Amino acid sequence: MDGAVAIVLAAGRGERLDPALPKALVPVSGRSMVARAVQAASSCRSIAAVMVVAPEGFEEPVTKIVQALGVDVVVTGGATRQASVRSALRAVDPAVAAVVCHDAARPLATPGLFDRVLNALDGWDGVVPTIPVVDTIKRLAGERVQATEPREALALAQTPQAFTADALRAAHAVAERDGVGATDDAALLERAGFRVRAIDGERWNLKVTTPEDVRLAEALGAA
Ligand code: C5P
Repeated sequence: MDGAVAIVLAAGRGERLDPALPKALVPVSGRSMVARAVQAASSCRSIAAVMVVAPEGFEEPVTKIVQALGVDVVVTGGATRQASVRSALRAVDPAVAAVVCHDAARPLATPGLFDRVLNALDGWDGVVPTIPVVDTIKRLAGERVQATEPREALALAQTPQAFTADALRAAHAVAERDGVGATDDAALLERAGFRVRAIDGERWNLKVTTPEDVRLAEALGAA
Protein backbone atom coordinates (compact mmCIF):
# COMPACT_ATOMS: atom_id res chain seq x y z
CA MET A 1 0.00 0.00 0.00
CA ASP A 2 1.56 3.29 -1.10
CA GLY A 3 1.42 6.58 0.80
CA ALA A 4 1.63 4.95 4.23
CA VAL A 5 2.69 6.79 7.38
CA ALA A 6 5.23 5.27 9.76
CA ILE A 7 5.05 6.01 13.48
CA VAL A 8 8.40 5.47 15.20
CA LEU A 9 7.84 4.96 18.92
CA ALA A 10 10.71 6.47 20.83
CA ALA A 11 8.99 7.76 23.98
CA GLY A 12 10.05 5.00 26.40
CA ARG A 13 12.39 5.88 29.26
CA GLY A 14 14.30 2.59 29.09
CA GLU A 15 15.95 3.06 32.46
CA ARG A 16 17.61 -0.36 32.34
CA LEU A 17 19.98 1.06 29.71
CA ASP A 18 20.83 4.53 30.97
CA PRO A 19 18.93 6.30 33.78
CA ALA A 20 19.64 9.74 32.27
CA LEU A 21 19.01 9.11 28.58
CA PRO A 22 15.82 7.80 26.92
CA LYS A 23 16.49 4.42 25.33
CA ALA A 24 15.89 5.67 21.78
CA LEU A 25 18.78 8.15 22.15
CA VAL A 26 21.25 5.46 23.21
CA PRO A 27 23.74 4.85 20.39
CA VAL A 28 24.25 1.49 18.67
CA SER A 29 27.65 1.60 16.93
CA GLY A 30 27.66 5.39 17.15
CA ARG A 31 24.14 6.08 15.81
CA SER A 32 21.08 6.49 18.03
CA MET A 33 18.39 3.84 17.91
CA VAL A 34 15.78 6.42 16.87
CA ALA A 35 17.97 7.55 13.95
CA ARG A 36 18.38 3.94 12.83
CA ALA A 37 14.65 3.25 13.05
CA VAL A 38 13.77 6.43 11.14
CA GLN A 39 16.29 5.67 8.43
CA ALA A 40 14.93 2.17 7.87
CA ALA A 41 11.34 3.46 7.69
CA SER A 42 12.11 6.32 5.36
CA SER A 43 14.12 4.11 3.01
CA CYS A 44 10.94 2.11 2.33
CA ARG A 45 9.35 3.29 -0.91
CA SER A 46 5.74 2.72 0.22
CA ILE A 47 6.17 5.06 3.19
CA ALA A 48 5.35 8.69 2.39
CA ALA A 49 6.01 10.20 5.81
CA VAL A 50 7.64 9.25 9.08
CA MET A 51 6.41 10.58 12.42
CA VAL A 52 8.38 10.22 15.67
CA VAL A 53 7.00 10.04 19.21
CA ALA A 54 9.45 11.54 21.72
CA PRO A 55 9.50 11.33 25.51
CA GLU A 56 8.10 14.38 27.28
CA GLY A 57 10.98 16.76 27.98
CA PHE A 58 13.17 15.29 25.21
CA GLU A 59 11.30 16.67 22.20
CA GLU A 60 14.16 19.04 21.36
CA PRO A 61 17.06 16.56 21.10
CA VAL A 62 14.84 14.04 19.30
CA THR A 63 13.64 16.69 16.82
CA LYS A 64 17.24 17.73 16.15
CA ILE A 65 18.22 14.17 15.27
CA VAL A 66 15.22 13.25 13.14
CA GLN A 67 14.80 16.56 11.29
CA ALA A 68 18.19 15.95 9.77
CA LEU A 69 16.72 12.70 8.42
CA GLY A 70 13.70 14.40 6.81
CA VAL A 71 11.12 13.93 9.58
CA ASP A 72 8.94 16.99 10.22
CA VAL A 73 6.42 15.66 12.72
CA VAL A 74 7.55 14.94 16.29
CA VAL A 75 4.80 14.40 18.86
CA THR A 76 5.05 14.05 22.63
CA GLY A 77 4.50 10.54 23.94
CA GLY A 78 2.32 9.34 26.77
CA ALA A 79 2.83 7.28 29.93
CA THR A 80 2.53 3.96 28.07
CA ARG A 81 3.43 2.75 24.59
CA GLN A 82 -0.27 2.56 23.82
CA ALA A 83 -0.82 6.19 24.86
CA SER A 84 2.15 7.18 22.69
CA VAL A 85 0.58 5.49 19.66
CA ARG A 86 -2.70 7.28 20.39
CA SER A 87 -0.90 10.67 20.49
CA ALA A 88 0.68 9.95 17.13
CA LEU A 89 -2.58 8.74 15.58
CA ARG A 90 -4.22 12.07 16.40
CA ALA A 91 -1.59 13.71 14.18
CA VAL A 92 -2.07 11.31 11.22
CA ASP A 93 -4.00 12.83 8.30
CA PRO A 94 -7.46 11.16 8.11
CA ALA A 95 -6.88 10.55 4.37
CA VAL A 96 -3.94 8.18 5.06
CA ALA A 97 -4.96 4.55 4.41
CA ALA A 98 -2.16 2.58 6.09
CA VAL A 99 -0.04 3.11 9.19
CA VAL A 100 3.10 1.25 10.24
CA CYS A 101 4.02 1.23 13.95
CA HIS A 102 7.67 0.58 14.74
CA ASP A 103 9.59 0.53 18.03
CA ALA A 104 12.79 2.55 18.02
CA ALA A 105 13.97 -0.19 20.40
CA ARG A 106 14.34 -2.41 17.30
CA PRO A 107 17.14 -0.55 15.51
CA LEU A 108 18.09 -3.43 13.19
CA ALA A 109 14.77 -3.81 11.31
CA THR A 110 15.51 -3.46 7.58
CA PRO A 111 13.69 -1.27 5.01
CA GLY A 112 12.74 -4.55 3.33
CA LEU A 113 10.73 -5.61 6.39
CA PHE A 114 8.74 -2.34 6.24
CA ASP A 115 7.98 -3.11 2.59
CA ARG A 116 6.97 -6.69 3.35
CA VAL A 117 4.52 -5.83 6.16
CA LEU A 118 2.87 -3.18 3.99
CA ASN A 119 2.61 -5.46 0.95
CA ALA A 120 1.15 -8.25 3.09
CA LEU A 121 -1.68 -5.98 4.26
CA ASP A 122 -3.49 -6.84 1.01
CA GLY A 123 -7.07 -7.27 2.29
CA TRP A 124 -6.09 -7.86 5.96
CA ASP A 125 -6.56 -5.39 8.84
CA GLY A 126 -3.07 -5.79 10.25
CA VAL A 127 0.25 -7.55 9.69
CA VAL A 128 2.74 -8.63 12.34
CA PRO A 129 6.22 -10.02 11.62
CA THR A 130 6.96 -13.08 13.75
CA ILE A 131 9.73 -15.58 14.30
CA PRO A 132 9.27 -19.18 15.43
CA VAL A 133 9.84 -20.16 19.04
CA VAL A 134 12.80 -22.51 19.12
CA ASP A 135 13.17 -22.91 22.87
CA THR A 136 10.93 -25.16 24.95
CA ILE A 137 8.49 -22.94 26.85
CA LYS A 138 7.77 -23.51 30.56
CA ARG A 139 4.91 -22.03 32.54
CA LEU A 140 6.17 -21.05 36.00
CA ALA A 141 4.70 -20.24 39.37
CA GLY A 142 7.72 -18.69 41.04
CA GLU A 143 10.48 -21.31 40.90
CA ARG A 144 8.04 -24.17 40.43
CA VAL A 145 7.60 -25.36 36.85
CA GLN A 146 3.91 -25.96 36.29
CA ALA A 147 3.72 -27.03 32.66
CA THR A 148 5.42 -27.18 29.29
CA GLU A 149 3.59 -25.24 26.59
CA PRO A 150 3.34 -26.64 23.06
CA ARG A 151 5.48 -24.25 21.05
CA GLU A 152 4.24 -25.11 17.55
CA ALA A 153 1.39 -22.62 17.73
CA LEU A 154 3.52 -19.88 19.34
CA ALA A 155 5.57 -17.14 17.71
CA LEU A 156 7.57 -14.11 18.82
CA ALA A 157 6.12 -10.83 17.60
CA GLN A 158 8.23 -7.98 16.25
CA THR A 159 7.71 -4.52 14.80
CA PRO A 160 7.28 -2.91 12.24
CA GLN A 161 3.58 -3.83 12.20
CA ALA A 162 1.30 -2.55 9.41
CA PHE A 163 -2.39 -1.69 9.77
CA THR A 164 -5.20 -0.10 7.87
CA ALA A 165 -5.58 3.27 9.54
CA ASP A 166 -9.28 2.62 10.17
CA ALA A 167 -8.68 -0.67 12.00
CA LEU A 168 -5.81 0.75 14.07
CA ARG A 169 -7.91 3.76 15.15
CA ALA A 170 -10.91 1.56 15.94
CA ALA A 171 -8.86 -0.99 17.91
CA HIS A 172 -7.27 1.76 20.02
CA ALA A 173 -10.67 3.33 20.65
CA VAL A 174 -12.12 -0.02 21.82
CA ALA A 175 -9.12 -0.61 24.13
CA GLU A 176 -9.43 2.87 25.60
CA ARG A 177 -13.17 2.40 26.16
CA ASP A 178 -12.53 -0.96 27.87
CA GLY A 179 -9.51 0.24 29.85
CA VAL A 180 -7.32 -2.50 28.35
CA GLY A 181 -3.57 -2.30 27.80
CA ALA A 182 -1.30 -4.26 25.47
CA THR A 183 2.37 -4.27 24.59
CA ASP A 184 1.81 -4.09 20.84
CA ASP A 185 -0.84 -2.75 18.47
CA ALA A 186 -1.62 -6.10 16.87
CA ALA A 187 -2.92 -7.31 20.26
CA LEU A 188 -5.48 -4.51 20.29
CA LEU A 189 -6.72 -5.46 16.81
CA GLU A 190 -6.92 -9.14 17.80
CA ARG A 191 -9.12 -8.43 20.82
CA ALA A 192 -11.32 -6.06 18.79
CA GLY A 193 -11.98 -8.87 16.30
CA PHE A 194 -9.90 -7.61 13.39
CA ARG A 195 -7.99 -9.99 11.12
CA VAL A 196 -4.25 -9.89 11.82
CA ARG A 197 -1.84 -11.72 9.54
CA ALA A 198 1.51 -13.17 10.68
CA ILE A 199 4.41 -13.08 8.24
CA ASP A 200 8.08 -13.98 8.64
CA GLY A 201 10.03 -11.49 10.71
CA GLU A 202 13.79 -10.99 10.76
CA ARG A 203 16.03 -13.02 13.05
CA TRP A 204 18.34 -10.07 13.73
CA ASN A 205 15.52 -7.63 14.44
CA LEU A 206 16.14 -7.88 18.16
CA LYS A 207 14.50 -5.76 20.82
CA VAL A 208 17.08 -3.74 22.73
CA THR A 209 16.28 -3.73 26.45
CA THR A 210 19.54 -4.21 28.37
CA PRO A 211 23.15 -3.04 27.92
CA GLU A 212 23.93 -6.62 26.74
CA ASP A 213 21.39 -6.14 23.93
CA VAL A 214 23.24 -3.02 22.76
CA ARG A 215 26.44 -5.05 22.54
CA LEU A 216 24.57 -7.83 20.75
CA ALA A 217 23.08 -5.38 18.24
CA GLU A 218 26.56 -3.96 17.62
CA ALA A 219 27.97 -7.45 17.15
CA LEU A 220 25.21 -8.25 14.66
CA GLY A 221 26.84 -5.74 12.40
CA ALA A 222 24.91 -2.51 12.82
CA ALA A 223 26.97 -0.40 10.44
O1 C5P B 1 9.38 -0.30 26.95
P1 C5P B 1 9.50 -1.06 25.68
O2 C5P B 1 10.93 -1.30 25.27
O3 C5P B 1 8.65 -2.27 25.59
O4 C5P B 1 8.93 -0.07 24.58
C1 C5P B 1 8.74 -0.43 23.25
C2 C5P B 1 8.81 0.80 22.38
O5 C5P B 1 7.76 1.70 22.73
C3 C5P B 1 10.12 1.57 22.54
O6 C5P B 1 10.63 1.91 21.26
C4 C5P B 1 9.74 2.77 23.37
O7 C5P B 1 10.50 3.92 23.09
C5 C5P B 1 8.27 2.97 22.99
N1 C5P B 1 7.49 3.58 24.07
C6 C5P B 1 6.82 4.78 23.84
N2 C5P B 1 6.11 5.39 24.86
C7 C5P B 1 6.07 4.83 26.08
C8 C5P B 1 6.73 3.59 26.34
C9 C5P B 1 7.42 2.99 25.31
O8 C5P B 1 6.88 5.30 22.72
N3 C5P B 1 5.42 5.46 27.06
